[in-house]
Amino acid sequence: MTRSIGKLLVANRGEIAVRVMRTARRMGIGTVAVYSDADATAAHVAAADEAIRIGPAPARDSYLRVDAILEAARIAGADAIHPGYGFLSENAAFAEACAAAGIVFVGPPAAAIRAMGSKSAAKQLMERAGVPLVPGYHGDDQDPGLLAEAAAAIGYPVLIKASAGGGGKGMKVVESAAGFAEALASARREAANAFGDDRVLVEKYLTRPRHIEMQVFADSFGQTVHLFERDCSIQRRHQKVIEEAPAPGMTPERRAAMGRAAVEAARAVGYVGAGTVEFIAEGDAFYFMEMNTRLQVEHPVTEAITGQDLVEWQIRVARGERLPLGQEGLAIAGHAVEVRLYAEDPMKGFLPQTGRLAHLALPEGQPGIRVDAGVRGGDTVSVHYDPMIAKIIATGADRAEALGRLARALDRTEVVGLRTNRTFLAAIARHPAFAAAELDTGFIARHEADLLPAETAPDGLTLALAAAAVLGRRAGAAVAEADPADRWSPWTCTDAFRLNRPRVVDLLFEVAGATQPLRVECVPGGLTCEALALAYDLDGWTEAGGRILFTADGRRRSAAAAFDGDRVALFLDGAETVLRVVDPRAAAGDEGGGAGRIAAPMPGTVVAVAVKPGDQVEKGQALIVVEAMKMEHTLRSPRDGKVAKVNAAAGDLVAEGAELVVLEEG
Ligand code: ADP
Repeated sequence: MTRSIGKLLVANRGEIAVRVMRTARRMGIGTVAVYSDADATAAHVAAADEAIRIGPAPARDSYLRVDAILEAARIAGADAIHPGYGFLSENAAFAEACAAAGIVFVGPPAAAIRAMGSKSAAKQLMERAGVPLVPGYHGDDQDPGLLAEAAAAIGYPVLIKASAGGGGKGMKVVESAAGFAEALASARREAANAFGDDRVLVEKYLTRPRHIEMQVFADSFGQTVHLFERDCSIQRRHQKVIEEAPAPGMTPERRAAMGRAAVEAARAVGYVGAGTVEFIAEGDAFYFMEMNTRLQVEHPVTEAITGQDLVEWQIRVARGERLPLGQEGLAIAGHAVEVRLYAEDPMKGFLPQTGRLAHLALPEGQPGIRVDAGVRGGDTVSVHYDPMIAKIIATGADRAEALGRLARALDRTEVVGLRTNRTFLAAIARHPAFAAAELDTGFIARHEADLLPAETAPDGLTLALAAAAVLGRRAGAAVAEADPADRWSPWTCTDAFRLNRPRVVDLLFEVAGATQPLRVECVPGGLTCEALALAYDLDGWTEAGGRILFTADGRRRSAAAAFDGDRVALFLDGAETVLRVVDPRAAAGDEGGGAGRIAAPMPGTVVAVAVKPGDQVEKGQALIVVEAMKMEHTLRSPRDGKVAKVNAAAGDLVAEGAELVVLEEG
């Protein structure tokens, strides 16, 4: 039976919503966006033909509300809903509610979602279907003693996973029996919080595996194919960072074997639509990990090597059509690699960053580069949703060409206003071990020292540009009421203006662990300092930063700058330097026992307090656990000492920077 789809509602936000709408529009289908109060002017709303508000910013009050989304579909007259990934995409009740409302759900049957929804149940099913599994316990009995025995029988290290899990939540590696009870309790809390289900499974933790997944597709006529593999082994804490297709070193025999197992897995649950069967591979062996019953974040690399549009395939299958191609019609051409550009701070343990994107330049339009972005310059990355800024996908005739293009594209990416993992991604793209395809899930941890931005002293040009940025901001602040056209002029020297004499300004930067004094003289059109004369012009400048068009050594170039409190970030030729602007008047005092105060790294909820005043603690000991963005962060003691104060209790909501535990003066 074929059904026509005239109007598609996308029950999602960000890049995936924008991307789905692009295909729908090309297919002549009308598009409807839904949005929360935080997203009224978001990119996905701008990309849609029409948009409907579904509730307040928190996802549970908007993007996770089945009733609000179905009501929006009714109001708009949409006849189909695409769930994207995340949110309601793997919610069987939502798929059923769509059907009950007479709306086509662009995804698999509810029964297939349910069958694969529990990692434990899926494993039991796959075991029966003869698909290989990692040795482990995935039973229903959840007694802690029994789980500990299972772990001992499997042999340490083991991995505890939330049965309902996803996104690494509720997942804990346990090295030895001594750590099992604490890890189990934490995994359960995290799982209960994130999924409302605290059941776990325990399996052997493989120490140097690769993550290889197969894209599968099935239609409602019983035809199931695979669209080859993706290698997603470059991960941080079990979360994908870079994905590529095809997997380096994959032999045709192995591809065929994994493809067969994946198609088997899909058939076992009566699958229809797009799905991904994830395997963990070590040596020649591969094991079923889980099946994701939706489109994956990394689907563009498959589109790049197959030349197919997977969203178009999804819509065709949802309309009741046959798969556009059979297995024999599919082939791999070239190589593709994708990076996930995140608003996060690699120097602070990759903490998610929130705030306004003062400036955003993405490498769109370059040869072999595809950018899927969900935000635009001026947008805000909020605490409510995933902090992904964009996916950058590079394609080449071979892997080397794709990696070269990726590295250059990252150099040309500028994000001002928020810290990102951009230079970290570029460092991976250029790393010799990555070029040599030495891939496994421990890659990042092993090479971290090479990948984190180097703390090297900045050169004279970078310092001069930082000075230009600081002066630009000061001028702006000083003449906020002046002629708007001239407001950000760097030579608007209203603070120490001296007729016919250059203004001399002393600045103090803290960078790469050292303080760096800099004396500059403001001259018309620029500044001079220590043998460097810099003529510059501030373009699109705001209080938060902008671009600096400059001429130094006779070359005209540009840099971008952004402020974040007392810090200025400079982007020049692909490099990023963050300098703290020290106010000499405030520099004295304020030392205050630094290492003895443990503060919340981000806004969140305290889930456990492990110490009380008077306790003796050791360096590295867990003090308090804060949950933010559905992940637990264990705050540990920075040194040996005695607890003086505990300012939080389980259940407390805490703001970023809130002082939670204080140690006695050491
Ligand atoms: P989630 O659904 O929470 O993302 P997955 O089951 O997909 O969790 O696993 C995520 C990642 O965790 C995998 O890609 C892999 O790196 C790692 N992982 C999972 N199972 C194992 C295992 N048994 N041994 C080693 N690493 C594993």
